[in-house]
Amino acid sequence: MNENKRTVVVVGAGVIGAAIAFELQQRGRQVTLVDRDEPGQGASFGNMASIALDFAANSGPSTMRKIPGWLMDPEGPVWLRPSYAAKMIPWFLRYVASGRPSRLKQIEDAGMSLSRHALGDIRNLLDAIGASDLITQEGCLAIYETEAEFVGDRDHLELMQRYGFEYKLLSGTEIRDHEPALSPTIAKAVLLPDNKTIRNPYQLVLKLIEAAKARGANFVSGAVQTVERQAGGRMAVLLEGGRRIEADDVVLAAGARTRFIAQALGEPIPLETERGYHTQIMKPGIDMRYSVIWPRRAFMITPTAGGIRVGGNVEFAGLDAAPDFRRPRVLVRHAQRAVPGLQVEDAKDWMGHRPALPDTIPIISPSSRVSGVWYATGHGHLGLTFSATTARLMADMMTGIAPAVDMTPFRINRY
Ligand SMILES: Cc1cc2nc3c(=O)[nH]c(=O)nc-3n(C[C@H](O)[C@H](O)[C@H](O)COP(=O)(O)OP(=O)(O)OC[C@H]3O[C@@H](n4cnc5c(N)ncnc54)[C@H](O)[C@@H]3O)c2cc1C
Repeated sequence: MNENKRTVVVVGAGVIGAAIAFELQQRGRQVTLVDRDEPGQGASFGNMASIALDFAANSGPSTMRKIPGWLMDPEGPVWLRPSYAAKMIPWFLRYVASGRPSRLKQIEDAGMSLSRHALGDIRNLLDAIGASDLITQEGCLAIYETEAEFVGDRDHLELMQRYGFEYKLLSGTEIRDHEPALSPTIAKAVLLPDNKTIRNPYQLVLKLIEAAKARGANFVSGAVQTVERQAGGRMAVLLEGGRRIEADDVVLAAGARTRFIAQALGEPIPLETERGYHTQIMKPGIDMRYSVIWPRRAFMITPTAGGIRVGGNVEFAGLDAAPDFRRPRVLVRHAQRAVPGLQVEDAKDWMGHRPALPDTIPIISPSSRVSGVWYATGHGHLGLTFSATTARLMADMMTGIAPAVDMTPFRINRY
């Protein structure tokens, strides 16, 4: 290790922390990446693998309209566990406030400013770690059974149009020409050509860490409790069991658990978990080229390196409640309606915690209280999509380069 290098501890080895660790090591920092668990076992393990450029605020009018119906429907995509409802109230109030038209426009501008860079940045990152084969060439198909469903999703398409993202309407045989596995009951589809898929999101995290280590980074296993600024300005990262690691800078990228460290540092953030599920089907009995999203039912079917993954859902039940694996089974039933040949053999269910802020966009920011502490969290439904861009922007801020994106909307003290 070069003694003169500026040192950084990155807390959290999910896709966000791993991408930042790689980027900073690449730019000449000496990085120590810390995780309480095995790397890549958080939300980044089992997401739906989509580089989804069609950013939409969760508090946008079409989602807001659907939520009451979804919450009432036992087979709908959103659940609130009654035992957790009271804890969610402050978050929900902020969520509703972020649906005001003026705020919505700021959120959309901010989200789209990341989307604009996401595909280019992820391709560059994959090239840099020698893993460009992890991304597919095919895009994603948004599917609709009825005209009413299609009309119900028009905000989404208008948004894409407004921000200049490409899409193509498909109907009838065109749909099956693209994806023969889809049922003839799917009346309409929209091809999102730039929404690519990462064949194995878990492998991506491992490869990022491998590449960072090959350039000199270290990995340390341990649970971070807090960070202290010492006399002289250096930081001390305090781990469970009394261990400490000193560094010049600390990046907090601990997913949904970042809020505990933020709390310990005296800057609480309204970070919740939107729990999501998937079923990984190793023997699906079919092949698919495209990932498929069904907007009305809010779930995806994704061909991955290890079979077909069906997943989505939003469950508000906190970090500690046991998974309820009835959720993904509903999704698999819906998936079989869209893809009638889909068999469920050799399948495994999974649940993960999306780090979710009430206004949809992440925090990518220096601490507002402790100089030398940085945050990268709250990426919600789009952490894989925004991972490379977050890493680039964070590394720019930390190394004194003007970021290509206005970082004001992502600051920690916006609440
Ligand atoms: C079902 C589902 C589908 C999704 N689909 C997509 C998709 O298609 N496209 C997309 O872009 N995004 C998707 N996402 C979202 C995406 O997976 C997340 O936004 C992203 O993985 C968040 O990454 P992260 O690194 O912030 O968090 P995580 O992957 O959760 O990593 C955080 C890490 O921090 C560690 N940690 C926590 N606390 C501490 C501590 N105190 N000390 C040390 N380490 C700690 C954890 O062990 C963990 O390894 C999906 C998510 C889910 C659940």
